[in-house]
Amino acid sequence: DKLSVSVPSGRWLPFGKTPTLDILVEVSIALRVGEIVCMVGESGSGKTTFGRALVGLVKPSAGRIALDGVALPDFTSRSFRRVRSQSALLFQDPVTSFNPRQRIGSIIAEPRHITHAGSTKREDIVGLARKAGLAEQFLSRFPHALSGGQARRAAVARALSVVPRLIIADEPTAGLDVSVQGGVLNLFLDIRDEFRTTFLVITHNLSVARHIADRIVILYLGRVVESGPAEEIFRNPQHPYTKALLDSEPVPDPAHRREEPPVIGEVPSLAARPKGCEFHTRCRFAQDRCRTEAPIKTDVSPDHQVACHFPLAATKAASIPNLRLV
Ligand code: SF4
Repeated sequence: DKLSVSVPSGRWLPFGKTPTLDILVEVSIALRVGEIVCMVGESGSGKTTFGRALVGLVKPSAGRIALDGVALPDFTSRSFRRVRSQSALLFQDPVTSFNPRQRIGSIIAEPRHITHAGSTKREDIVGLARKAGLAEQFLSRFPHALSGGQARRAAVARALSVVPRLIIADEPTAGLDVSVQGGVLNLFLDIRDEFRTTFLVITHNLSVARHIADRIVILYLGRVVESGPAEEIFRNPQHPYTKALLDSEPVPDPAHRREEPPVIGEVPSLAARPKGCEFHTRCRFAQDRCRTEAPIKTDVSPDHQVACHFPLAATKAASIPNLRLV
């Protein structure tokens, strides 16, 4: 169903009205078994809130989650615990989600202790750690003694201790060296292949999506502006924002660096959403209609949708270089 999340804005309005900020607006995503979906957007796009809403850490103001086609009655119900028991959220900074006084071995084994789902014998916990690429010697250490990459592997091992059907990974490569980033993403691919686990990977980094995504969802100001198969999004982006994100990817070879891009401004505040298409204040292709009328989603192909009055294929704008974000 379409999830919406609103929070009080903190502003005061007369006559008892409570102002709210819409962080997510009617975001609807079907996650298929064994699929890796990357949700991509700049900071403030609502992507982390969506991941948290999926596991019940944020209560949506509207919308429902369905599991195996059956809608869960509400986010506080017992049935919602079923979703949580079958899903794991990997936080952006795993160390802060660990108990600093608990050793890594005990942290990895904890979900099994709580759910009684699986052995907590040392050799089995060592096996879990190894599966996540973490050597046995780290099990006796405390979280602060681990590097960023090791902590992330410990978080993955902990998630694997109950073999979740869904893993939500929030910025899984943030703060990691490039050499370690590939290892973490390859680990996700291995887990998907071995357990048919579904992944929702939340990232601002299209290189992450390029590495692992089967499907990509592009979020702007809490709305999905484009979604589709990864290969199609990279080859044939239709929304000017998607094109801008693609053009913002670093180019490794300086000889192929693009000309300096035009500045197209900053993300508007959620408290002052632009009228019409919310991207029009930054879009080089905006026309009068964009400033007054919100675009609705249309099909580019059966699995590829875009919300834009003038998709790039129609305007042939995809061939125009230098549409970049700052
Ligand atoms: Fe740009 Fe208009 Fe499309 Fe919005 S609807 S992305 S302003 S062309």
